[in-house]
Amino acid sequence: MHVLVIGAGIIGVTTAYELRSRGFDVTVLDRRPGAAQEASYANAGVLSVAYAGPWAQPGMPGKVLRSLWQSTSPVIFRPSFAPAQWRWIVRWLGECRLARYQVNKQRMQRLAEYSRGVLHELRNRHALEFEQSKGWLQLFRTEADRARAKPAIELLAQAGTAHRLLDAAACRAVEPALIDATPLAGGLFLPDEETGNCAYFARLLRDLTAAAGVDFRFETPVKALRFEGGRFTSAQTPTGPVAADAAIVAAGADSARLLRGTGLRLPLYPVKGYSLTAPIARFEFAPMVSVMDEAFKVAITRMGNRLRIAGTAELGNRKLQLRDAALGTLLRVARDWFPGAAAYSQSRAWVGARPMLPDGPPVLGATGVPNLYLNLGHGSTGWSLACGSARVVADIVAGVKPQIDLDGLTIGRYGAAAS
Ligand SMILES: Cc1cc2nc3c(=O)[nH]c(=O)nc-3n(C[C@H](O)[C@H](O)[C@H](O)COP(=O)(O)OP(=O)(O)OC[C@H]3O[C@@H](n4cnc5c(N)ncnc54)[C@H](O)[C@@H]3O)c2cc1C
Repeated sequence: MHVLVIGAGIIGVTTAYELRSRGFDVTVLDRRPGAAQEASYANAGVLSVAYAGPWAQPGMPGKVLRSLWQSTSPVIFRPSFAPAQWRWIVRWLGECRLARYQVNKQRMQRLAEYSRGVLHELRNRHALEFEQSKGWLQLFRTEADRARAKPAIELLAQAGTAHRLLDAAACRAVEPALIDATPLAGGLFLPDEETGNCAYFARLLRDLTAAAGVDFRFETPVKALRFEGGRFTSAQTPTGPVAADAAIVAAGADSARLLRGTGLRLPLYPVKGYSLTAPIARFEFAPMVSVMDEAFKVAITRMGNRLRIAGTAELGNRKLQLRDAALGTLLRVARDWFPGAAAYSQSRAWVGARPMLPDGPPVLGATGVPNLYLNLGHGSTGWSLACGSARVVADIVAGVKPQIDLDGLTIGRYGAAAS
């Protein structure tokens, strides 16, 4: 059976790997010249289980509102007249209630935990090195930051996840490179959280998968999907149709546009984020554990001999343009905690679009079209969820029961019907 995967981000590449492992003939189409060149390119690199959770959470609507007046806010909202934006926001507001947040977070954590197991399996099987590190320290500048984290900390305790609430001195003992001058109320340390270079991993897996026979066709944008008799038949590209027995849409933020012709109406919206990658100048001043500044929602991760500083969630402007205010906030946070660590003036700046559904979890597997499948909507945790999502989707295509409960991870929760 020949399966087409549309998209060679971290989600498409891992999906191609899993499909090939089950013996399918696989073709991957991507509009870019190589793998992982859009949202998967320069993300924060956090492989999170405990921290995996939805953007829709209590307190977030207030942050979004305040962002209308603050240029340094971690959340930026640019209201537009687009009905899709307002439909997304209405659903998102409903998902910010505590009870909904808890349900969505548990769904994402279930998948993240499974995903971490699959990633470890691949890493060990193929001896993959992708600039991994271990340990995650969430920093609270103020008591208010600490109070806002309370619901998430309660869920960690309920789930039995290893974590330690720390005072400022204990934070500095965990990460001695944190400077004293910046006020710190305390932190939350998650010793089992990991980080790694997502784009690098995707390319390693792309090479392995190509060597196993997967046909990667880059610079091949898919204009539309074609159907006959209620079944997928081919993907339309500038060089002609590419036919297959089945297709999996893993096209990140562009997936909603591709699905428009199918009758599937998924409220997938791009939420922009930014990163800076700077060469480490003084290794003794650079962090060993990854750090998240909770006030600014900025993550700082060591990747080999570079520091990756990433953050900002910007809703409403689809143009992937760098914005000075957002980059300035990243720089400020990095300098607040690790001033001499990197040559910040030599940073490479990047902007990407998280493919975000309003409730948080992705949509995996079958649609109403018998041979069309989805692996999309991974939002701000796509790297953490990729390996598990890929295995679930490949199981479904192969007609095998997935190893995790899919409640809340399928298209059913959007009540979508397909033509
Ligand atoms: C600033 C930032 C920080 C982040 N930090 C983290 C983190 O620390 N941990 C974490 O787990 N996640 C993080 N994420 C989220 C994560 O990066 C995304 O969820 C993930 O990369 C999504 O992967 P994807 O493969 O779905 O999308 P993409 O990587 O965007 O891949 C989609 C692919 O589809 C291709 N494509 C699209 N349309 C077409 C078409 N019509 N025809 C052909 N090809 C097409 C694109 O070229 C692209 O290669 C972060 C995101 C951002 C922006």
